[in-house]
Amino acid sequence: MEVMFTPFRQPGCNPKFMRLYCCLGPLKQGFLDGCRPIIGVDGCHIKAEYRGHLLTAIGVDPNNGWWPIAWAVVEREATEQWKWFFELLKNDLQIENGYSYTFVSDQQKGLDRALSEVLPNSEHRYCVQYLYNNFKKKHRGLALKTKLWNIAASTTEGLFKKAAADLEKFDKEAYEWVKKAPHPSHWSRQQSIITMLESIRIFLMERIQRRTTAMEKFELSIGPLIKKIIDDRVIESRQWRTIWNAVDGYQVRGPRGAQFAVYLKKKSCTCKLWDLSSIPCCHAIAAIHRNNGDPYKEVYDCYNRDLFQKIYKNVLYPINGQVMWPEADGVDLDPPERIVQPGRPKKARRRDPTETQKTGNSWLQGAATRQSTTAESG
Ligand SMILES: [Zn+2]
Repeated sequence: MEVMFTPFRQPGCNPKFMRLYCCLGPLKQGFLDGCRPIIGVDGCHIKAEYRGHLLTAIGVDPNNGWWPIAWAVVEREATEQWKWFFELLKNDLQIENGYSYTFVSDQQKGLDRALSEVLPNSEHRYCVQYLYNNFKKKHRGLALKTKLWNIAASTTEGLFKKAAADLEKFDKEAYEWVKKAPHPSHWSRQQSIITMLESIRIFLMERIQRRTTAMEKFELSIGPLIKKIIDDRVIESRQWRTIWNAVDGYQVRGPRGAQFAVYLKKKSCTCKLWDLSSIPCCHAIAAIHRNNGDPYKEVYDCYNRDLFQKIYKNVLYPINGQVMWPEADGVDLDPPERIVQPGRPKKARRRDPTETQKTGNSWLQGAATRQSTTAESG
């Protein structure tokens, strides 16, 4: 926990609160225990009587769910505030150099520069949902949407060129837009990221419990979301025919003459999806079935249920009510300037009607709103 306040005070007043950073011990440990080195970061306005922004960082658990890491309340969203957040985060997560880390975000104000200054070796990707929301302001229709997502899903340069040519043939203007957007190697298929308030600690405490209980009921060595990905690919794999070389190589041929090479021992397919996502692609599944194998057992350990349980053992603990809190050392702080809001405050980000999937974002925003309403009325 880190608090920053104004260096000067007016006569008769305490220094004013500026920023607060929070990374609870169990959440930090959970990330270190086995989340992949992918960190989603997001920022949004705080819907409260004081001006401010909320910055958040989340990890990805072995069931592809999000794991909360840290959040901060800052006076505004700009390079300086993101730098402050990343410095503290880097320290908490013991990131020496950012080489193996990927940060995923929308195009937040000041984030790009802050990240390149604090963690210059890390990779930065943009959320495709966010790119698509901008894309469709000018380019509407399901066919165009599918073509954009095909580009985002390309795992090799060849597939990317093919998907791009397909879009160009269909809609030249839309293709020109994509060319100007950040290169797809910097896109990410992660959903856009959550927003959190410190006051949703209770929500996180319950969420960890709910997810642990749900996983306990699940009997496979992987979680339900990973099972669903594999089950969908099993259906797709039925369209692919395998030729085996009697050792470890499979030539896999499918619709429209497409063809890839699969190597089971190396857990590799030339479509690159298995290599990149660590979950077998439909071509690999065709080969696994030919070899009488079990695709559920061919995922990498980062999706393992035991790892999930190790992470989720890092629970949050109940605390006493505020009257029983110990006196804090240090200076007393005054709140920042209040803002006068005519009528209802506007939403920080209007939800897009196409974002039908229930993401961590919406759950947490709901929790944050409920919590702050309770706090205000109490
Ligand atoms: Zn493949």
